[in-house]
Amino acid sequence: MNRWSIALFRLFGIRLEVHATFLLLLTLAGYDGWRADGAAGAAWEVVFVGLMFGCVVLHELGHALAALRYGIRASRILLLPIGGMAQFDSLPRQPGRELVIALAGPAVNYLLIGLIVAGFGWPPALGDVGLPTRMAEIPHALLLINLMMGVFNLLPAFPMDGGRVLRALLALRFGHARATRWAARSGQVIALVCGSGAIYASVFLGYNLWMVAALFAFIGYGAEMEYRLVRNENFYAGLAVGDVTRSDFLAFHPDTTVAAALEALRRTVPQDLLLISSNGPVGIVTRARIAAAIRAGCEHEPLAQHATHDFLELQAEGALGTAARDIVRRSQQLFPVYSFGRLIGVCDTRHLEESVRLLRLRPPGR
Ligand SMILES: [Zn+2]
Repeated sequence: MNRWSIALFRLFGIRLEVHATFLLLLTLAGYDGWRADGAAGAAWEVVFVGLMFGCVVLHELGHALAALRYGIRASRILLLPIGGMAQFDSLPRQPGRELVIALAGPAVNYLLIGLIVAGFGWPPALGDVGLPTRMAEIPHALLLINLMMGVFNLLPAFPMDGGRVLRALLALRFGHARATRWAARSGQVIALVCGSGAIYASVFLGYNLWMVAALFAFIGYGAEMEYRLVRNENFYAGLAVGDVTRSDFLAFHPDTTVAAALEALRRTVPQDLLLISSNGPVGIVTRARIAAAIRAGCEHEPLAQHATHDFLELQAEGALGTAARDIVRRSQQLFPVYSFGRLIGVCDTRHLEESVRLLRLRPPGR
């Protein structure tokens, strides 16, 4: 993800980054304005999108500064075309703290609304507020944006702030894992109902709500990811990478031919291969790559030509939950495992859940 984001500057020690696709949004907005009203139209659209995302940054800063009160530092605030995201290394399990951090974002929007109303009054007709074309129209356009952000973010649906509020409230009674499951399901039901409604209105009633439908699809997906994250944390709690490290694995010298590897692979369970030179592991050859090499008639080529050299290594002593978080983000399925600088085996994610279930069969205390 880092490759696609551009660092802008630091605010309160927090790095502000924009995703490359955000520039695409600015270009599209500019083009849209230019088609409607030439250069002036383009300028207004770009200024407006800029202001809109200024509000998003302030909203995220609200979360980040509230977290800082508990000693939790956000590593960065990332701006995506769909909104902002403050990233934390770890979030509190205490429901009270989660509640405060979740509410701090929308609170900023309501604070901004209050300031605008104090300075410029409430707009005579909220429905008439649209894209500003004069300076005087900016305050009320900003008011509308903040109102939409404030209301939308409080929907009780993960990964919106309202979903976190709901989880924190449920967690006061039912514990973190169950609260997360319910809050995630609530988010998915809301996403399904509202998303279907938006699609229906777009197809049959002549509204253009495709963006809204896409947003709800994103919410449904985000809810599932959040649920899995918490489920994994509990699932892997108390285990180390070494507990699920396999000592039987297939390793070859990089010069070994594809045909020789296939011969060895035929006599054991299907698995990815480790390439080891005198300096230790240098690459991984997936089963898919071997199959592709054979289909392409490359049987006599060395394995090194079909290997991935960019791979992650794990430490046996590391917590499995933490490693799992890195694992799920990668397409890699075979991970060399080290203990004090020595290769002791591999962790194969295809069998990870099964291994953990077996480990859990042991009576506690052994
Ligand atoms: Zn928020």
